[in-house]
Amino acid sequence: MSTPDDPPPDDPALDADVMVVGFGPTGATLAGLLARRGLRVVVVDRDTELFPLPRAAQCDHEVLRILQELGCADEVVAATVLNDGLDFVAADRSVLQSFTVPALARTGWPTSVFFHQPSFETVLRRTVADLGAEVRLGVGVGDLRQDAQGVTAELADGTRLRTRYAVGCDGARSATRKVIGTDLRDTGFEESWLVVDLFLHEGATGLPTRCLQVCDPARPHTVVPMPAPRFRFEFMLLPGESAEAISAPASISELLASWLPAGTADVERSAVYTFHGLVASTWRDRRVLLAGDAAHQTPPFLGQGMCAGMRDAANLAWKLAAVVADGAPDELLDTYQAEREPHAQVVIDVAVDFGRLICTTDPVAAAERDAAFRAAPAPRPGDEPPSPIPPLGPGPGVGPLGGDLSAQPHLAGERLDDVVGCGFALCTEEPLDLDSSEATWWQAHGAVLDARTHPELVPLLAGRPACAIRPDRYVLDRGPVADLTERARALLGS
Ligand SMILES: Cc1cc2nc3c(=O)[nH]c(=O)nc-3n(C[C@H](O)[C@H](O)[C@H](O)COP(=O)(O)OP(=O)(O)OC[C@H]3O[C@@H](n4cnc5c(N)ncnc54)[C@H](O)[C@@H]3O)c2cc1C
Repeated sequence: MSTPDDPPPDDPALDADVMVVGFGPTGATLAGLLARRGLRVVVVDRDTELFPLPRAAQCDHEVLRILQELGCADEVVAATVLNDGLDFVAADRSVLQSFTVPALARTGWPTSVFFHQPSFETVLRRTVADLGAEVRLGVGVGDLRQDAQGVTAELADGTRLRTRYAVGCDGARSATRKVIGTDLRDTGFEESWLVVDLFLHEGATGLPTRCLQVCDPARPHTVVPMPAPRFRFEFMLLPGESAEAISAPASISELLASWLPAGTADVERSAVYTFHGLVASTWRDRRVLLAGDAAHQTPPFLGQGMCAGMRDAANLAWKLAAVVADGAPDELLDTYQAEREPHAQVVIDVAVDFGRLICTTDPVAAAERDAAFRAAPAPRPGDEPPSPIPPLGPGPGVGPLGGDLSAQPHLAGERLDDVVGCGFALCTEEPLDLDSSEATWWQAHGAVLDARTHPELVPLLAGRPACAIRPDRYVLDRGPVADLTERARALLGS
């Protein structure tokens, strides 16, 4: 059931189903996931080149799983280096607390990797174009207006684009956010940091092989071992210090001096950023939606800004596809903000708390923090640090026993998601007549997998007869097949 005002599927006035504004990692992921589902997508970016300054360096297993759906995860992973955790160290570099994450997550992908964002985005952009999304670079979206039937954008080259829906993935200064007219809620966190990406020469040895948060109240800083020969340092600006002063080559050399002998690295790029924790109050106004940095911005202390944007894309893509191509009710799109906002907010809150801990410049407060770190019991070998990434909260798209990101076992040597494709999955131990209306519904919307013949699936059921997994790989719910079918049908209106 589409909205009464929906244009017919082959309306000649429409250039595409969905316009994605911005070809950063969020927009690229969304465009790729929509194109993979057969939607006509146009993605528009005002720049022709990738963002040139240093930004994301870490991504998690869920992002790699999203890239798996797009078909480029193996290529991306091949250019990364494993991140096995993080040490908090004192000013004298003695370890205050050490956290280790397992190499492999239950999704079947490395828990965390370090990468070079331009290389990552190059692969992503090529993949998205190969999937059939139309990409227009060097054309900014100017005026954006919506009516009952669609969205019309005036582009900087004088052309006009009309689509059913538009998604603003246009970054922190999003103009689409202004079209929606929402405010930004501010956590009140504001700290400026210099980020320096280096190219190491062969003689640059002895650098840390793990990520370090250096809790030095005289200069809090972060050390990030990126894929060789790159290496990153991030230095907090001290009160009253200017971006120009700290960015001067002599200043950067001085900051690096205690880590690297002079002349053993070149600065590839550097930038000063002011980090905030911000969330837009409204992510959707009828046919216009927001995703990624346009909807929320986090300080990068957990390395989660880009990851959160790509989670938005995965959450939104299947819902837009269901509404546009399968006649699902338009209200399905309201579950997008309802599910993603609390999730993004928790990640921001944890990152802000983390940031406040790291950014301490008061020596007394720093000494108290260090003592608390040292007094805390060291994690035992094998203990995983608590994940800052929560499950999705309950709502129309998540039942009381759902909301967690499903594990991804291998079935006869193939990854679960590759077996399922981009639809729903019903994993069941309950005998199911494959000619029944329930089985027919699940087969039409994804796949039915028998946990009795695939025991690898049994842990997903968590003691229930069946488990329904959504196309974004979050668990819809667990329980008897009849209940799961009713819930899924109500969600999709079919
Ligand atoms: C120092 C630093 C370190 C970070 N580290 C990490 C990390 O380790 N891990 C992590 O996950 N995240 C990290 N982040 C955050 C991450 O870089 C961002 O969250 C991510 O790049 C945002 O992606 P996006 O696609 O939403 O927006 P962007 O990457 O900003 O892309 C927006 C795109 O929209 C385009 N655009 C804007 N306006 C228009 C318009 N009117 N018309 C057309 N196009 C338009 C822009 O040209 C741009 O290409 C870090 C950020 C910083 C600053």
